[in-house]
Amino acid sequence: MVEERLDADVVVAGAGTAGSHAAWALANAGFRVALVEARRFAEAGARWANLVPVWPFEAAGLANPEPPEALEEDRSYSMLSLTGPGRTVLDRDKPCVHVDCRLLVERLQSLGRLAGVQGLDCLRHMALEFDASGRPTALTADRDPPDAAPSRVRITARLFVDAAGITGPLRRQVPGLAADCPDLAQDEVCAGANEVCEVADPAAARDFMAGLGLGAGDAFAWTGVRGGYSTIVCHVRADAGTVLITTGSVADGRHGSGVAILKAFKAGHPWIGRGLFGGSGLIPIRRPYDRLCAPGIALVGDSACQVFAAHASGIAIGLLAGRCLADSLAGRQDPGAEESVWAYQSSFLRTHGPMLGAFDAFRRLSVSLSEAEVGDLVGEGFLQASSVRSALGQKLLLPRLVDEGLALARALAHRPGLAAKLAATGARGAAAAALYRAHPAHPDRDALRRWSHGVAAALGGRADVQ
Ligand SMILES: Cc1cc2nc3c(=O)[nH]c(=O)nc-3n(C[C@H](O)[C@H](O)[C@H](O)COP(=O)(O)OP(=O)(O)OC[C@H]3O[C@@H](n4cnc5c(N)ncnc54)[C@H](O)[C@@H]3O)c2cc1C
Repeated sequence: MVEERLDADVVVAGAGTAGSHAAWALANAGFRVALVEARRFAEAGARWANLVPVWPFEAAGLANPEPPEALEEDRSYSMLSLTGPGRTVLDRDKPCVHVDCRLLVERLQSLGRLAGVQGLDCLRHMALEFDASGRPTALTADRDPPDAAPSRVRITARLFVDAAGITGPLRRQVPGLAADCPDLAQDEVCAGANEVCEVADPAAARDFMAGLGLGAGDAFAWTGVRGGYSTIVCHVRADAGTVLITTGSVADGRHGSGVAILKAFKAGHPWIGRGLFGGSGLIPIRRPYDRLCAPGIALVGDSACQVFAAHASGIAIGLLAGRCLADSLAGRQDPGAEESVWAYQSSFLRTHGPMLGAFDAFRRLSVSLSEAEVGDLVGEGFLQASSVRSALGQKLLLPRLVDEGLALARALAHRPGLAAKLAATGARGAAAAALYRAHPAHPDRDALRRWSHGVAAALGGRADVQ
């Protein structure tokens, strides 16, 4: 078999949104980057339409999505209660946009090619080689593209970035890191599904939306459809020509799955026609791992659990992680040295950890709630527009006390039990956020262990670093 030998500064494994963007950002920072992918590049990453906040694009150094990558803007976004007439509506200043992630991945990959990223796809059996200290030094794999002869690839580099998604195939090969990145518990995984479908009967689609007090062009979310952490988000486009449906539920065996919820929703609404594109998969929904690196390796994207836990959204955070990695490593002689990769870990967790930790507290609460309690969250006025904007925009915002205070006070009085749970969740989130701002700035395993135990005490569960 032909053997290909390459030398790079950085190998990024996984050409989805997080990996393609990180590869581009690292190449712009002056590193020689190889981007390696198990599938064909044209099939890498998310193959569905995702709801993504807008602000992280600029923060990640990217232009905002434009059509056709950005899909038609929603006229309004409503959170509807399943148990009553209550609702929360955002009809202006919607902080997010629907993105055709197939086109976003394509954009990021082509930016990388222009910046000199060297790409190798269709790789199988990826294995790391290590030096005596346990630091990875090379990656080997079999390459079997459909249009060329199979080959054996060996790439030496000083840093390997695992951006290969929830399974973390490189992370698992580095013993020191694998031990600190525990397998996900059932309530830390969301089974999601998404499909853009034709509308077979536009009049019936408009009637359905009208029955909810909405019209074509509006979007709505029903949360708690199977209790706790489960949802259906539906957007009938303005011309009632297509509908975008996203479903998901915590994969603990008690809430069904995103695929089952999507199937049932379609079966109950015969106006929904043929599927055009979409997909399904597992999404990590816990706070990011407390350890995002070891000498010679760093994690970005789903592999690092860099996901907004409250609604299982990883696109924006994965982009921000790549920016943070490139900024932390720029100008460093050895991008894989412990000080270099720790600078990334510390910068990412100090900057984005407060928001991710606080919303992980909310995820933990929502997994435990009944259908009725989730209905009350919306129906009784706990979720005011500022909370919905905060969650969709993936930014911590305080309630606007002047116009939202009265509704919140009424909700607190009507549902004191739920109010107490929310107050406890808020306190946990605030404690975690404070800890994130003080993540150890320099390599220090004992300090990291103490920090990890502090975060676990604030949020619940076992510390990552023992
Ligand atoms: C149905 C569904 C709906 C979603 N909706 C939203 C949403 O609305 N908003 C949002 O922000 N997020 C959403 N998400 C989550 C989002 O899609 C993920 O968080 C995001 O795609 C993660 O990006 P990533 O680049 O880290 O990983 P991935 O997108 O998983 O990409 C990883 C890449 O690595 C490749 N790979 C795997 N193993 C290897 C290996 N050994 N070597 C090399 N390459 C490898 C894979 O082929 C893949 O191309 C949704 C997820 C699902 C499943």
